[in-house]
Amino acid sequence: MTNNSPILSGSHLFKQFQIKSTPASPSGILTAVDDVCLDLFKGETHGIAGESGCGKSTLGKIMAGLLPPDKGQISYLGTSISALSKTDQITFRRQTQMIFQDPFSSLNPRMRIGDIIAEPLLISEKQSASTLRSKVEEIMQTVGLAAGQYNRFPHEFSGGQRQRIGIARALATSPKIIIADEPVSSLDISIQAQIINLLQNMKSTYNLSLIMISHDLSVLRHMCDQVSIMYLGTIVESAPAVDLFKRCRHPYTEALIASIPGINRGKKHNRIILTDDIPSPLAIPTGCRFHPRCHYAKGICSQQTPLLENKSTTHRAACHFSSEIFYT
Ligand code: SF4
Repeated sequence: MTNNSPILSGSHLFKQFQIKSTPASPSGILTAVDDVCLDLFKGETHGIAGESGCGKSTLGKIMAGLLPPDKGQISYLGTSISALSKTDQITFRRQTQMIFQDPFSSLNPRMRIGDIIAEPLLISEKQSASTLRSKVEEIMQTVGLAAGQYNRFPHEFSGGQRQRIGIARALATSPKIIIADEPVSSLDISIQAQIINLLQNMKSTYNLSLIMISHDLSVLRHMCDQVSIMYLGTIVESAPAVDLFKRCRHPYTEALIASIPGINRGKKHNRIILTDDIPSPLAIPTGCRFHPRCHYAKGICSQQTPLLENKSTTHRAACHFSSEIFYT
């Protein structure tokens, strides 16, 4: 592995789910992730954006090794995780942790928060009760919780504090990679900034590599080195964050950027406003999946699937007409 090799890499990932019928919808096969390749480099924050239901949470769980893909593979430090020895698989699990969207449901309400934070340590290594306690208290203080709160229960904390507990739990095993799935979307705006700052501080303090999943591009704009945009299970654009926000190359990204309050008002990002809902992943449109909502669509768009191609050395987009639409 060279210095430029990714620490975590997803290659041609594919995942479907069988959906049972309900009174509101028929049964079917839901394609959540469709031929996605994603690299995370050491020290990088890689954002994954897209509307609800685009597959970004499923992709996050696959990248974390929590959900097996139907096809494709995850590589950690250049080795497929399916080829790792048992010991190395345990190391991978310790070193890759997830922070979930909803701190209310991701914490066991019957456990004391000290025990919640200690749990991953108990699973992965043996140590004395006093060592464990002092380790947990140290982590609690690092994320802004008082050590004296060790014996309290999750319901005694606010939403922001619960997310701090989730972050402490993720940090307990000294991970190298954190995958944060919408970690601030259920929090008040005023608390969101605190949690984002905490994540950024933890990233630099512990030299973490971070995958940040969010439907909110304004959050990713502040945090990320690289941003990938997902639409109905596929990545339609990926670029360094600076490039993506300065000059996006896909109409869907353009629409997402145009919807950020106060950003780039004026002609550059006002050409598309997303109106219709995202189509059902049970019935993915033919050709370019974005064509039913795309103001630039032409005949070929419903027939032929555009490939995710290099538009510059660092910028990839999947649109037949990217060069014509975004020529300036
Ligand atoms: Fe729009 Fe066609 Fe480009 Fe798809 S390929 S984003 S429908 S212009």
